[in-house]
Amino acid sequence: MKSQQGILEAAGELLRQHHVFLISSHLRLDCDGLAGELALAHVLEALGKQAHIVNPGPMARVFRFLPGSERVMLASDTSERPSDLGALVILDCPDLSRLGDVAALLPGGLPLLNVDHHPDNTSFGTVNLADAGASSTCELLWRVIRANRLPLPPEAATNLYAGILSDTGRFCFSNTTAEALSVAAQLVRLGADPLAVGHHLYEDFLLGQLRLWADVVGTIDVALAGRVAVAVITQGMLGRQSVSGEDTQDFAEVPRMVSGVEVGVLLRELSEGRVKVSLRSRGPVDVNVMAARLGGGGHQNAAGVVLSGTLSEVRRRVLAVVEEGLAGSAGSGREKEARG
Ligand code: AMP
Ligand code: MN
Ligand code: MN
Repeated sequence: MKSQQGILEAAGELLRQHHVFLISSHLRLDCDGLAGELALAHVLEALGKQAHIVNPGPMARVFRFLPGSERVMLASDTSERPSDLGALVILDCPDLSRLGDVAALLPGGLPLLNVDHHPDNTSFGTVNLADAGASSTCELLWRVIRANRLPLPPEAATNLYAGILSDTGRFCFSNTTAEALSVAAQLVRLGADPLAVGHHLYEDFLLGQLRLWADVVGTIDVALAGRVAVAVITQGMLGRQSVSGEDTQDFAEVPRMVSGVEVGVLLRELSEGRVKVSLRSRGPVDVNVMAARLGGGGHQNAAGVVLSGTLSEVRRRVLAVVEEGLAGSAGSGREKEARG
């Protein structure tokens, strides 16, 4: 097996060798995936190359400030593949099934660079930089850029900073490592704009979004002796505040904020009798295992799945799995916290 240094060099070689790139990321695009795409596009352009960003779904309104976001295309609006493609780059995506409609657009036989920090990445690329110890995909892209002395324009630095800030929950989640903080500091030194990123990601709600936030807080109730909190977003709640589903990205963090809660669950009603389930936990409580049991996936402290059924059916199913998962890790979280 190659050392990480060897993989970083192979990634750099792949980026230097080709001229036209297609870049994509996972369904329900988040800031780490999108900002990573944009950062890489700025780096490739600084090298005189071309980058096409094609995504499986729309981006949240708050991400539009990210430098270069206007160039992002949707797979459903892209009938033809960009011509002369030399290589593909897939970011923050554990397997190709998470690429939605983009998968059908990918030509076979091209070199593929896979950069990801999900623990269950399937190494589907020709070069696989998969490291679950990294805070974010943007931190991994930083390593590629530095190891290969690639140019890093300020627009790319701002994007990488945004990805790291967002995936660490503003440096609050358990992936807030010294390395993540150090990379963020170096990005600011290289021209990243932390004020703009902080403002746009966390202080620029539409009034309807903020009112929806209050509505969602109003739905929170606790279960399993206070170890789990559940919040709900119905289609009616979205409609009343004129907010789209994409614009509820950070709402999944809300139920976990209840003191003493170990697992936060957000249930968002989709169309056609389906429900988007977002699970959030703290420390050693592993919601990735719980999501996997329901057919989804993610990270130890943040995972998701889409299930069929009514809100109350899905709630029952999810709570049963969470209860089982918490029984499996009984007391471990509390003991660890008590030890500090
Ligand atoms: P979300 O709750 O949608 O914000 O997702 C939290 C994390 O879980 C992200 O890393 C997602 O990529 C991952 N995730 C969400 N839904 C799924 C799914 N159906 N399958 C695999 N991973 C998922
Ligand atoms: Mn992601
Ligand atoms: Mn990520």
